[in-house]
Amino acid sequence: MRLFNNESGRVKKHCKILATVGPSCRSEERLEAMVKAGTNLFRLNFSHGDYDFHRESLEMIRNVQKKTGLFIAVLQDISGPKVRIGKLKEDVTLIPGDIVEFVREEVIGDFKAPHHLVVSLNHPELLDKLKPGELIYLYDGMICTRVKSVGESVITEVLSGGMLSSRKGVNFPDTRLEMDVLTDKDKKDIAWGVEHGVDFMAISFVQKAEDILRVRRLLTSLGGNQDLIAKIEKFDAVEEIDSILEVSDGIMVARGDLGIEIPYYRVPEVQKMLIRKANTAAKPVITATQMLLSMTHSERATRAEISDVANAVLDGSDCLMLSEESAIGEYPVEAVKTMTATIREAETEYPYFRIRQLPYNDEMDVIDESAVNLLQNIDATAILAITSSGQSARKLSRYRPRQPIYAVTHSEEIARRLTLVWGVVPSFLSAASSARQMMIDVIRRGLESGVLSKEENYIVTAGDPPGVPGTTNIIRILRRKELEHFAKMAQEKGLPEDWE
Ligand code: ATP
Ligand code: MG
Ligand code: MG
Repeated sequence: MRLFNNESGRVKKHCKILATVGPSCRSEERLEAMVKAGTNLFRLNFSHGDYDFHRESLEMIRNVQKKTGLFIAVLQDISGPKVRIGKLKEDVTLIPGDIVEFVREEVIGDFKAPHHLVVSLNHPELLDKLKPGELIYLYDGMICTRVKSVGESVITEVLSGGMLSSRKGVNFPDTRLEMDVLTDKDKKDIAWGVEHGVDFMAISFVQKAEDILRVRRLLTSLGGNQDLIAKIEKFDAVEEIDSILEVSDGIMVARGDLGIEIPYYRVPEVQKMLIRKANTAAKPVITATQMLLSMTHSERATRAEISDVANAVLDGSDCLMLSEESAIGEYPVEAVKTMTATIREAETEYPYFRIRQLPYNDEMDVIDESAVNLLQNIDATAILAITSSGQSARKLSRYRPRQPIYAVTHSEEIARRLTLVWGVVPSFLSAASSARQMMIDVIRRGLESGVLSKEENYIVTAGDPPGVPGTTNIIRILRRKELEHFAKMAQEKGLPEDWE
């Protein structure tokens, strides 16, 4: 079996990076450079690109995984009922006072007269629901217009302008749209994701826990068991966050649409609240949108962006996301490098060891906290979590240890899902029928792959018997003396079956 070691060739940091794949980073060389620079997962955004496009991206990512020997997960972003403008003939700039006319038929968007842009919508039936005076936002809220009249078409006037290009998102914060969280296209896309074995599915515009449960039922009926990430971008989702967290495998703070659904000035506070709740529940949380936006066209980020990235790290994000920066930007690799450098610097100031700050949900939490407590107080380099479902690595991460959490699991699928979790390094695969065999296997593979060094001490957590999720009952201190002894024996007599 191939050995994986996520430390080799990839920059070390606790907070993970999720990069959106798009035309500007779609080559194996680019993707590999992005991985080496610190990307842990890739996002395929099903709002853009067709099945061939995504299948090819997936193949490239899998080839990079094979080539580098690093675990790389894939997140499929399911578009949901996202309203978008149609194609534009070319990019346009709008200024206050301009007219934007939304028409029912499908057209290539263009100026019909100076300062009068005509565009279509992917859901033209929504035009019936608009009323004069209501606001319409374009492109993650960067452009704002107000409805002047509703008739054959809807005429709006630009209040604040900006650049607009094809297929940008449209938001109607004043209008009740009552759209289903899954469109027919989403259902097909989910089937595609199951067939192609993506690791995560991100569900857009979730409003309540039932939305996630519905997707989960669909997924199960298709034979899939992907981890579901709820994108929090609706006012209702913020209100319902506790029950949504309970049924999701993680959440995304999707600040683009969120900043329109709730007042923009509330986004930082809501971000902190969402992250805190996800951390407490031991569910991974991704902070997304506009993190290094200016790097789409500039080699350097603004001070404000760097500060935003650093603060998202300090808030407790498990993972930060790049959108247009990596998908359509001119500097995808540099954007990852900038993010990594900023994360690493912020992590020098990170509030590690959140011991006794978090409530115990069950006895497992007591055990995990004790393991991290030990890690904090003895001279150990890392904690090794032998885990069958990945849950114990996620629980250890909750306490935010300074040292890495090396996860050892039997399945590549579980290992890939742990790439999203703060501080967790899915290191290699191992399966054994007894805890003792498991320990020996882990030491052997650990030393072979360079994850373990015989000059260091480690803490190991495991469950006996192995393979039963949620049964950690071993906390073992692995001393350098033992490792040295083991390595010597291995050299002299070959692989030991057992050792005393
Ligand atoms: P979401 O609300 O899901 O974030 P989005 O439209 O903002 O949707 P992003 O993935 O955040 O999409 O990317 C930002 C922009 O990058 C998009 O508006 C689009 O113009 C462009 N883009 C992203 N992916 C692709 C792609 N595969 N092909 C072409 N353009 C893309
Ligand atoms: Mg969005
Ligand atoms: Mg976006």
